[in-house]
Amino acid sequence: YPMSLRQSRMCCFEALKSIPVVFILAIVAWSYYAYVVQMCILTIDNVPKKVIYLFIYHPLLFLFLWSYYQTIFKPLVGPPTDFFVGEAEGERIATAQTLDERRTSLLRFSRRGDLPVLTRHFDGSIRYCFLCRCIKPDRAHHCSLCGKCVLRYDHHCPWTNSCVSYANYKFFILFLGWALVFCTYVAATSLEYFILFWQDVNNSASPGGKFHLLFLFFASIMFAISVSSLFFYHLYLTGKNRTTLESFRAPIFSDGPQKDGFNIGCKQNFQEIFGKIFLTAIIPIWTTRGDGVHYQVNSVLLGGLQQQQQQQQQQQQQQFGNMRYALKTTL
Ligand SMILES: [Zn+2]
Ligand SMILES: [Zn+2]
Repeated sequence: YPMSLRQSRMCCFEALKSIPVVFILAIVAWSYYAYVVQMCILTIDNVPKKVIYLFIYHPLLFLFLWSYYQTIFKPLVGPPTDFFVGEAEGERIATAQTLDERRTSLLRFSRRGDLPVLTRHFDGSIRYCFLCRCIKPDRAHHCSLCGKCVLRYDHHCPWTNSCVSYANYKFFILFLGWALVFCTYVAATSLEYFILFWQDVNNSASPGGKFHLLFLFFASIMFAISVSSLFFYHLYLTGKNRTTLESFRAPIFSDGPQKDGFNIGCKQNFQEIFGKIFLTAIIPIWTTRGDGVHYQVNSVLLGGLQQQQQQQQQQQQQQFGNMRYALKTTL
């Protein structure tokens, strides 16, 4: 019984979480009716104008909805399997008596697995998630709403009911961008009929239809304004190669916090998320570079750090090679 109660609670919670998405889809559905039926078909008399308005409207709506779909449904990417320490090691880390003991076992585990972690917890130890029992890859964080560690965690977005992270960051920015273009287009083309509403509000034949046009203009302006601040903020963050979380709390490297640690130049930062080709950058298909685990760091600020790690890896490989050689000769 307690299990089923918990399950039904979870179900309830899932339903609650999807309310904002349902709300957005309902508004889009209504605005489609208001724009296509009330404005273009019933109000505009000029046929070429009608056709042109509808001809531009549909691709913009499609790009917006496609980006939204991708942001919502792109599966989250968590740490690779070799970042998970397993039950026994997890128990040892959780029950470590001193910070030093814990720090040493985390370091040992990450060295043994050759894990590419450059960032540290503020106490200097390797970042670790007690809930998932895994070493956190650089820029990954645990999302309490999704219940797992997520690569390049940005924030959990209620409007898409998903974690904005490595897997969907490009789609999220495109969702904001296309929403802005779409809303601006609707506002610009419905402005004329919005003004008309105020001019002949008294001798109107169908007041119901006019109210649709009135709210269409209001809603599109409102959404355009609220989305634009978020959109430009995320463009700024992309230019600096920072996640929302990192903009509040700078990532910590072995020699201290460094807010520009992952900043490899504006153009490169954009290419990391969107790829090199402009045409594929603006449509919601996967062009993000990298695996979400390995990150290039700012060579001016942290050049020594990455070199150090590469040297360590080479040394380990050499040791491994020597061992194999020794094994061969003894056999
Ligand atoms: Zn976690
Ligand atoms: Zn989340």
